[in-house]
Parts: sequence; C-alpha cells; structure tokens
Amino acid sequence: MIRVYNKLLDTLGHKDWWPARTPFEVVVGTILTQQTKWENVEKAIVTLRENGLLTPGDLAVADISKIEGMVRCTGFFRQKAKRLKDISQFFSDNPEILETPTDELRELMLSLKGIGHETADSIVLYAADKPKFVIDAYTKRMCKCMGIDGDYIELQSLFEKSLPLDVPLYKEFHALIVEYGKQFCGKKRCDECVLVENINGRLNRRKQSNEET
Ligand code: SF4
Repeated sequence: MIRVYNKLLDTLGHKDWWPARTPFEVVVGTILTQQTKWENVEKAIVTLRENGLLTPGDLAVADISKIEGMVRCTGFFRQKAKRLKDISQFFSDNPEILETPTDELRELMLSLKGIGHETADSIVLYAADKPKFVIDAYTKRMCKCMGIDGDYIELQSLFEKSLPLDVPLYKEFHALIVEYGKQFCGKKRCDECVLVENINGRLNRRKQSNEET
C-alpha cells in the first residue's frame, strides 16, 4: 500500500486534510459532508461559525430550525441538523471524549444514531488524532480496480496491516484517495490511471480493436 500512497503523492502533492480550526469543527464536517460536495460543507461551516455555533454547548442548545437553515445547502438538512444537535449534546456531556482509547472511541461513535463506519473513523482519525484508516467509496473502487475486494473492515484491516502506525500518513493517504477519486475515477480518466498497471494497454487495445471494426 505504501507504493500506492507514493504514486498518489507524486501525482497530486500533499493535501494536508482535514481543513478545520478545532476538533469539534471536524466532527461537524464529518456529519455535513455525508452525500454532498465539500464546497457546500464549507459554506455551512462558515455560517455556523459566524453565528457562534461551532462549540458543542452552543450547537446542542441552538434552535433546530435555525440549524436547519444554516446547513440547508448540504442537503438532507433536517436529518443533518438533528444529528448535529445529538452529537453536540454528546460532546457537551462528555468533554474529554476524544481522549478515549482508539477502539473504544470508535465504538462510542458508532453507537450514536446516524454515525456509520466512515464517519466514526473520520472523527477518530481527524478529530481525535488516533490511528484508524478511513475507507470511503473511492477507496473501495480503487481497491477493486487493483484486484482487491473486501468489505469495510476487511479493507481497513488490509491498509492498517500494510502501513506503519502513523496518524499523519493515514490522514494524508485518505485525503489523497479522495482527491484522486474526484479528479480521476469520478471523471472517468482511467486511461491516465497511475494505480492500475496495464490499464493503458487494455484501453489502447480496446481503442485499436474499435477502430479496426
Ligand atoms: S481512475 Fe479508473 S482505473 Fe484508476 S482507480 Fe479510478 S476507476 Fe479505477
């Protein structure tokens, strides 16, 4: 996996993800980023910040309809506003929660309504600075292209076993995967793919055979 990391780094350069001013802002971002583009999340976070709602205590007691209006641009705004309020209450009641050991913290996050594996691991890695590799749809897709199949936990375990236990590396690697997914997989630039050996040969042969028929 380290070879994959180096290829992505050579192609895209450092990403220094996750862009946030505080760990709680990361938590808010992980909820808002579900099923939307990051640009929409940024807009919502700026609005929440301008209204003084980027602390667990403030967001937990804020009026739900006010939060809905502020996160409307991220889609599923009613659901997300409710989840933000719930997780804010949890963080407000448990101010030291991010100090919890890695696996226990992950389980605690997963026990909250609306928090799945990817969101829980994003909180553990980017908000708590603890080593959990985040798997997203792009990671699954790239792995599949490289002949690696598996469910979330199997892929996570594969990455974690083959990489040094290094939080900055985990953060950067996931950020690179997301960026590569957006720039290459999402735009169907498979003919330029640096991850899948022989893809160029295969595409060229396909093109050649199309031209001959
Ligand atoms: S660019 Fe295409 S071939 Fe490469 S990993 Fe993405 S989907 Fe697969």
